[in-house]
Amino acid sequence: MNDARLMQPETRLTRTEVPVLTSTPLSVPLYQTSGFAFADLDAFADGMTRPDGAFVYTRFGNPTVRALEDAVASLEGGTNALATASGMGAINAVLLATLGSGDHVIAQRALYGGTLALLRDLAERWGVEVTYVDGHDPDEVRAALRPRTKVLYLETIANPTGHVSDLPALSAAVRDDVLVVVDNTFASPLLCRPMEHGADVVVHSTTKYLGGHSDVTGGVAVFAEEDRYRAVWRHSVELGVTPDPFAAWLTIRGLRTLALRVRKHEENAAVLARRLASHPAVRVVHWPGLDTHPSHAVATRFLDGFGSAFSFDLADADAGRRFVTGVELVRLAPSLGGTETLVLHPASTSHRQLDEEQLTASGITGGTIRLSVGIEDVDDLWQDIDRALRR
Ligand SMILES: *Cc1c(COP(=O)(O)O)cnc(C)c1O
Repeated sequence: MNDARLMQPETRLTRTEVPVLTSTPLSVPLYQTSGFAFADLDAFADGMTRPDGAFVYTRFGNPTVRALEDAVASLEGGTNALATASGMGAINAVLLATLGSGDHVIAQRALYGGTLALLRDLAERWGVEVTYVDGHDPDEVRAALRPRTKVLYLETIANPTGHVSDLPALSAAVRDDVLVVVDNTFASPLLCRPMEHGADVVVHSTTKYLGGHSDVTGGVAVFAEEDRYRAVWRHSVELGVTPDPFAAWLTIRGLRTLALRVRKHEENAAVLARRLASHPAVRVVHWPGLDTHPSHAVATRFLDGFGSAFSFDLADADAGRRFVTGVELVRLAPSLGGTETLVLHPASTSHRQLDEEQLTASGITGGTIRLSVGIEDVDDLWQDIDRALRR
């Protein structure tokens, strides 16, 4: 019984489907569906065993999500990508699919707080051993290598100090069987493509620059080799970290203006970093574009820009707290990479889990302010920042 006119309303109401189109929509359609219907049982069964079969169930894959994955894979120069519900979802999918108990990870010391917490948890509960390195010296990485080292984990530009590890030198210092994973969130693929410098896997929090409008949470892992992608895909299906199609759709829309946004973010950041550096209330500015920054020489070698989320230090915790509540146009909020300029006070928020020693190791003091520079008029921003600094 396929003729809708012969069906009762109760039946017809459950059957609103669209046919596959023969022309191409300019915007990626939102396939907001949890599953797909089949005429062919074998195609159905096959689609559940591999990521490149037919779409079966959105936890395994979805056309809108795939459009996002393909776009980011091509930007990063990878063979495949796996989109996830958050940046932490991407990091978990890669690490949990790769590591077993007793395995060893070498990671840079200045890491995103959530990643540090995950590594600590993997160490405590699963016996994964972690050695932290500074990130400028390949000999330090060579010395840290063990027979069971499986992952070298780096960030292109670290939060909030702007530390840049020497990715080309460090990735050349490890064995071929060590997976080089790079969190490229702060740079975006426009400022750095880590796979050109030895990375095997690149992860992003697409919540930040790729989405770019502070309206969606997401992540993505990009792979240089298809086999690794298939292994992580299989694990991601079990983890359940797949994004909702609408989140992928919003991220695709954000990507369309990524190049314009990144250029403007960068321009504004350069102006603000230089003005802050010569402001009497500011002790030091941690933007790797300044030639006084310890990572400046390394960053110049392989980045096409220095990023637009960075930090600067005021005299003490009191000054820090007063500043973040004194700005008005600039908002006190978590996250970064959106069109609007945001500040936060890492010691009391994003890095609150760290003890005094870890804070110092991450280069954070009570007076440290993290700034995510937006795309507003830079003089409007400076007026607000300068007024708050004078208070
Ligand atoms: C925000 C962020 C993450 C985590 O991403 P979520 O989308 O919040 O899960 C990971 N790494 C870096 C560098 C980040 O800035």
